[in-house]
Order: sequence, then C-alpha cells, then structure tokens
Amino acid sequence: MTSSESGAGCEETIETLYHFLDGELTDERRAEIERHLDACGPCVRAYGFEAELRQVIANKCRDHVPASLVSRVHAALVEEEHRRSAD
Ligand SMILES: [Zn+2]
Repeated sequence: MTSSESGAGCEETIETLYHFLDGELTDERRAEIERHLDACGPCVRAYGFEAELRQVIANKCRDHVPASLVSRVHAALVEEEHRRSAD
C-alpha cells in the first residue's frame, strides 16, 4: 500500500465515508477523499458498497439506522478491504 502522499489514508477515508455520504464534509475534505478514492481500488469498492447499502437502508427505514448494524457493516468493510489487499 502506497497511499500516504495525498493526505487521506485508507482507514481515514473509510471512516470518513459516512460523513461523505451524508454531505457533512467541507469542500476541501471532500476533494481530499475523492482524490483518495480515485487512486485506491479497495476504498472505491468500500465506497460503492456503502453507498448501495445506504440506499437500501434509506428505502427500508428512513429515519433510524441501528448502531449495531452500522458497526457490523463497518467491520465487514474493513474485513473486505483486508481480504482484497491480501490477494
Ligand atoms: Zn484507500
């Protein structure tokens, strides 16, 4: 993994995805994350997965996502990324 030059690392990017998808980031921060997503396959996949999941959740329960589900998904994303980068 060589993704340290652009400021945002993988872990940081994945953590920030939630805020990114919620539109809670500053323009500057968004640009940083987008730049990382441009250069990092595992994070793009995590981002796509998360965006898709958000849609499913939004359709099913509009106003409340259980914290247990969020943390389970986050764990799955991290595990997925580790699996991909191990290949
Ligand atoms: Zn990454």
